[in-house]
Amino acid sequence: MYLVDTHIHLTDSKYRELSLESLLFKAKEEGVKKLITLGVDLKDSLAALELAEKYEDVFFCAGIHPHEADKAKTNDTAELAKLLQHPKCVAVGEVGLDFYYEFSKPDEQRKVFSKMLELANGKKPVVLHTRAAEKEVLEIIKEFPGKYHCHSYTGDVGLVDDYLRLGAFFSFNGMMSFKGAQNVRDIAKKVPLERIFVESDGPYLAPVPYRGKTNLPEYLKTTVEFLSELLGMSYTEVVTITTNNAERFYFGAI
Ligand SMILES: [Zn+2]
Repeated sequence: MYLVDTHIHLTDSKYRELSLESLLFKAKEEGVKKLITLGVDLKDSLAALELAEKYEDVFFCAGIHPHEADKAKTNDTAELAKLLQHPKCVAVGEVGLDFYYEFSKPDEQRKVFSKMLELANGKKPVVLHTRAAEKEVLEIIKEFPGKYHCHSYTGDVGLVDDYLRLGAFFSFNGMMSFKGAQNVRDIAKKVPLERIFVESDGPYLAPVPYRGKTNLPEYLKTTVEFLSELLGMSYTEVVTITTNNAERFYFGAI
């Protein structure tokens, strides 16, 4: 029995002063055997690839995050396409639209997002980041049938069914344990078990009682304990189900 951390940013500067060896070792001690680290732009995706080559337990995604859309260069897509060929590259990600922070211009975000979906070409899974843009993302992905993972979804509960109809999976992290996150708890209860993953989203969103600290993948155990309680299931059941889902979705297990 082991856990898959389906969403972490091991390349983030917050992890820079830590030893990744010991971080991964401690994660493994707490049952986290596979970690998927995401790229937010070309440079970061290359750094993610490097980590995947260095550490057996680490897999990676390549993509351009909506926050970084303004800085993307024409040639980046072609370079990212090469990274997708890597045997440890499991998805295009993370990509999407974020009109909440709007760190990049909406039109640039849309342009980059479409390119990323073309890159996935309905074959590679796609990790979605959506914030204050859930409806628009839904309309866009309808045009690009494929395998979708809605990461840390905080949108309207009413739209969840529409995403599910397109075959999407949802992942849950420490945010579920935050007092004000009733919306996220409602979504976790709504999504069918066979569509659920767990994630740390480290270094962000550490679960209570670590809230506000750098989120370490070893804390995933705490998040899963919280989810088990919320769903009225045993810890073992939740681990088994979410790991089987991740294995099927990301690693081609039958
Ligand atoms: Zn992320």
